[in-house]
Amino acid sequence: MPKLTLYASHLLHNYQVLKQKLHTNTQLIPVVKANAYGSLAPQVAHTLTEVGAEYLAVAFVEEGIALRQAGIDNPILVFYPQREQLKALVEARLEPAIYRFSDLRLLSELLPPTERYYPIHLKFNTGLNRLGFSTAEVESLMDELGKMPFLLKSVYSHLGATEDPRPQPYIDRQLELFCELKDRIEAKISTPVTYHILNTSGLFNYPEFQMDAVRSGIGLHGFANQPQWDLQLKPVAELKTSIAQIIDVPKGDHVGYNFGWQAQRKSRIATLPIGHADGIGRYFGKGKAQVSIGDQKAPIVGNVCMDLLMIDITDLNVHEGDEVCFFGPDFSAAQWAEKGQTIAYELLTGIGSRVTRVWKP
Ligand SMILES: *Cc1c(COP(=O)(O)O)cnc(C)c1O
Repeated sequence: MPKLTLYASHLLHNYQVLKQKLHTNTQLIPVVKANAYGSLAPQVAHTLTEVGAEYLAVAFVEEGIALRQAGIDNPILVFYPQREQLKALVEARLEPAIYRFSDLRLLSELLPPTERYYPIHLKFNTGLNRLGFSTAEVESLMDELGKMPFLLKSVYSHLGATEDPRPQPYIDRQLELFCELKDRIEAKISTPVTYHILNTSGLFNYPEFQMDAVRSGIGLHGFANQPQWDLQLKPVAELKTSIAQIIDVPKGDHVGYNFGWQAQRKSRIATLPIGHADGIGRYFGKGKAQVSIGDQKAPIVGNVCMDLLMIDITDLNVHEGDEVCFFGPDFSAAQWAEKGQTIAYELLTGIGSRVTRVWKP
């Protein structure tokens, strides 16, 4: 059966590499959303908090609750809390990023009357145009916040294209807006606030804008969205399975659904017990991606099925039961993703729940 092996030593290596890029006063906030990029969020969170990570970040409230249930007591920033989840967020003492006035008001009503300093974070839109307060709203927001039972822990924004070669005027404008915003907030309030705008590739490309914290997710898993930066990191996840059956296919026969591949010669086809339900999308089929069996390579032929896919092993020396590798430390998920015109984020977070995760301490 397919297995996703996760190398804790590589996670720790990546954490240290990222830390080394930071000034001593800059925090690294591990982003462990989407089951820590398709891996094992509790194990990733425990491993990183044990080596000193203080804050963690997730996308949604449920993910924060799962970490609490796994025994994580650290502060957890929730990037995208939805209003119907704010009550559960308070019960789990998760720290919301607030991106609009109505959530600020609703949250204040949900707090126990004794609460004076519930920790929150503010998210500003500086050009990604996804979520966030407008920078034009900052003064009125600070005035309103002053009357509410909140403690402002951090202010942040998110950049639109941190891996693209500099100079990138649109990104420079986002950074400039954020720095102005920082000045305007500091003119309004005196309590210490943490400012952050960089993700993983932002740290590689714009290290001088690391400010007080950097939010890194994909970097911890071995990727920084540019092959030359990836070289500094080690891929954490390795996806393997083994051959379920090998069959001989006569010349002219088709393989798989909808005549996706036709044998141009007498062929040997190996079937693997993994399919698009496990995250190997149809866009990897029809020869786009290859798998490794030892040091031999075989293309995926025909259409990827839900539970199975087929590879052409006519010229290879392989046997039923042999181990097959999709991606791992040698041929990384980023390289593999490219074959299907996608990215490591989508490939890793799409690995299905049927795939057994094995944590290698
Ligand atoms: C997911 C996310 C990150 C992490 O980005 P990486 O590219 O994985 O390092 C940082 N900030 C926000 C707001 C995010 O949603």
